[in-house]
Amino acid sequence: MLEVRQLGSRYGRIPALHDVNLRVGAGELVALVGANGAGKSTLLRTISGVQPMSAGAIGFEGRDLGALSARQRVQAGIVQVPEGRQVFAPMSVEDNLRLGAFARGRASALEQVIGFFPVLRDKRRQPAGLLSGGQQQMLAIARALMAEPRLLLLDEPSMGLAPRLVAEIFGHITALRARGTTVLLVDQNARAALSVADRGYVMEAGRIALEGDARALLRDAQVQRAYLGL
Ligand code: ATP
Repeated sequence: MLEVRQLGSRYGRIPALHDVNLRVGAGELVALVGANGAGKSTLLRTISGVQPMSAGAIGFEGRDLGALSARQRVQAGIVQVPEGRQVFAPMSVEDNLRLGAFARGRASALEQVIGFFPVLRDKRRQPAGLLSGGQQQMLAIARALMAEPRLLLLDEPSMGLAPRLVAEIFGHITALRARGTTVLLVDQNARAALSVADRGYVMEAGRIALEGDARALLRDAQVQRAYLGL
């Protein structure tokens, strides 16, 4: 579904991605892990088109994304849940969800989407800024689902959440995948991310350092030492 080839990206003169190759097959859940500053967010943002690429190519369902704007990529079905949730705080939960279907999707999907996140149903008329961190994360994911993504890019969904909520968010991600959504997941919590993924990539200093079956990566001594605290 997604094929990233020899991708580069830079912030001004400073390179952030070098020669990145990555594939996501239809229906797969792929985890991208690595230390702070490794380039994981930059890679997601370059795929969604909010960060320009400086080299390489991105193919999506046989189309070259290079010439497409971020908005056109949403319309093609690539939808990102940004790091830090970025919900529209003064707007109601329901209006946040409706906005999710602005460029793609159907406003009529609202009842179905809210059905996946019962906690949002009780709060639908409240300003999103009054929700807890975990509820805002669910809203950010639900807002993305309103666009009926073909490929969902999830950036740090467990950031800053208590362990019980991390488990709940990862439960939702597993359920999404079971319903057939293709997911590329970035998370600092390498163990949680690799535990739900089919395959994984490890990034270091803007490059892909390792890739493979997610369970094999969890058992890899180098990954265990560097990212799993073993
Ligand atoms: P984190 O988990 O901390 O977000 P990450 O793996 O997602 O880490 P990126 O945020 O992609 O890493 O950052 C990759 C590199 O690019 C880092 O060296 C970072 O300092 C740099 N960088 C990120 N955003 C910018 C920016 N807006 N301007 C300049 N440099 C940036």
